[in-house]
Amino acid sequence: MKQAEVLDLMTELGALHQGHFQLSSGLHSDRYFQCARILQFPELARELGAAIAERFKNETYDAVVSPALGGILIGHEVARALGRRFVFTERKDGEMSMRRGFFLEKGEKILVVEDVVTRGTSVREVCRVVEENGGVVTGVGSIIDRTADSAELPLPLHALARVEVQTWPGDDCPLCRDGVALTKPGSRGN
Ligand SMILES: [Zn+2]
Repeated sequence: MKQAEVLDLMTELGALHQGHFQLSSGLHSDRYFQCARILQFPELARELGAAIAERFKNETYDAVVSPALGGILIGHEVARALGRRFVFTERKDGEMSMRRGFFLEKGEKILVVEDVVTRGTSVREVCRVVEENGGVVTGVGSIIDRTADSAELPLPLHALARVEVQTWPGDDCPLCRDGVALTKPGSRGN
């Protein structure tokens, strides 16, 4: 799957919005990703998962690990394509951890998968949890890379599409100056 195909599909299905958004970081942006809009279609989720898995076909992984909630659907599909098990981490009182009786064998090779990577916070936390549980992170993949190379990740990120999203501080935003209505997608459960 080529980058342009992924982005066209996302735009078509309302997973890539153009407008004026306040991101969870507080910054304002003209684009916003809602991958759930594409992943709600199981066949498309499977295709995206297979496309990510394709990027990692030359390595061997024992399991795929993703952060809840955003990474679960796509991580599961990558694991399906690789024929490996899937484990997710989740936050409890703000702390990322592995619960529900999930465990890793010592030295297992882990592919970490996320839907959208921006600052890389969740990916770094998942990597820490994997290591605390005895695993070794040997790959990091996502549907969208919007880090603009600014995220500090333990390994290079392999994404289906790389998108440079412009962001501005709330008090110095051209869209605010133009009077474009601001939406806060995070407040509706993203
Ligand atoms: Zn603004």
